[in-house]
Amino acid sequence: LPTEFEQAKPIIDTIEAAGYEAYFVGGSVRDTILGKPIHDVDIATSAFPAEVKGLFKRTVDTGIEHGTVMILDHGKGYETTTFRTESGYQDFRRPDQVTFVRSLKEDLKRRDFTINALAMRANGEVIDLFDGLADLDAQVIRAVGVAEDRFHEDALRMMRAVRFASQLRFNIEPATQQAIADNALLLTKIAVERTRVEWEKLLMGQRPDRGLQALVQTELYRYMPKMADQLPMLQKLIVLPEWHLDSIESTWTLLAWLMALPNEAAIRQLLKAWKTSNELIDHVTAAWTVMRALQQDATLAPMTLFTAGAAALKTANTVANLLGFGRPQSELTAAYAALPIQDKHALAINGGDLLKQKIVQPGPQMGQVLAQLLVAVVTSQVPNELEKLLDFATMVADTENN
Ligand code: ATP
Ligand code: MG
Repeated sequence: LPTEFEQAKPIIDTIEAAGYEAYFVGGSVRDTILGKPIHDVDIATSAFPAEVKGLFKRTVDTGIEHGTVMILDHGKGYETTTFRTESGYQDFRRPDQVTFVRSLKEDLKRRDFTINALAMRANGEVIDLFDGLADLDAQVIRAVGVAEDRFHEDALRMMRAVRFASQLRFNIEPATQQAIADNALLLTKIAVERTRVEWEKLLMGQRPDRGLQALVQTELYRYMPKMADQLPMLQKLIVLPEWHLDSIESTWTLLAWLMALPNEAAIRQLLKAWKTSNELIDHVTAAWTVMRALQQDATLAPMTLFTAGAAALKTANTVANLLGFGRPQSELTAAYAALPIQDKHALAINGGDLLKQKIVQPGPQMGQVLAQLLVAVVTSQVPNELEKLLDFATMVADTENN
């Protein structure tokens, strides 16, 4: 057993000693059997939430209405969820009702795919009620029960299927894939943020081409934001020779680039539609601009380097390398480090200095002069020294006033 399970074993033992059942469930069981590292340990139990809380000193109600209690133990948190069934699903995305039950089988039955419906006892024994082991072996993603019904209950599962295809390098079982094709439209019922998480995981997976191929074959992509007419872009991604990205920023930069968007505004629109953070939008637009320069110029202009910043430069070059027009990463790092300043706060002059010397009056001119000073320093026209910058500012202000 992985150390994460060994460490969590006392929790299962405590629950069992009180007369309830408890198992490891979900992705950690799947990944353990596949010999992959695991991230979070999920426990399922027949004990009701109040019963779980009664057994441990320190717990947090992380999702008590769904039956989830976090047990704190030796600085770690373990999500422990009461066996439950779900019903209703009138909105194609969440159950109207959750019912706690005492049966493991009922709980495993509500899970999305057979490979995710395995349970493991604290001694390592696997409980396989839906042939998940055979599917793990055959590297297949198969819905538990009737796929069509399962996607009607929760349309996000369609995105999860294509995401796992990429992450695990598995194939989607034909009936499951057909049900995705038949119900793809239901994806529009799902909150964009949740679709986005699966999309990003797909793109950062081991074999993104597998997930993308399934997205294309099922036409699920047509119901993702701003993707309806992106078949050519997806085809380009699919045939791109073996690629791997490990940051969300780089995946969006790659997408924006292959969509051949005309300008930064179009990228902002794309990312707004996907409801990403403003930070991500700024990063991706900056990286995209650097990519344009990388494609055109032998050397990047100092202002291009400065405006992008170290992080977006790295993203841009990573993606450019994947597409065949990047530089050695060290070259960009060195060019960036060689800039006279890396941050506008490092400018040796500020608005206060300009006012004190009466070079600029308070008002809109101030920002313009400071911007010109910044460019002058970054492009090495003027040394970053107060005296030299005051002289330069006087000249600039005079020119503007005449
Ligand atoms: P990951 O490695 O990304 O964490 P995971 O399989 O653990 O993958 P989670 O979202 O952490 O995915 O969910 C844990 C488990 O809960 C899943 O393995 C599955 O059994 C169940 N599950 C999660 N989301 C759904 C869903 N939408 N429908 C049905 N079961 C789900
Ligand atoms: Mg998980």
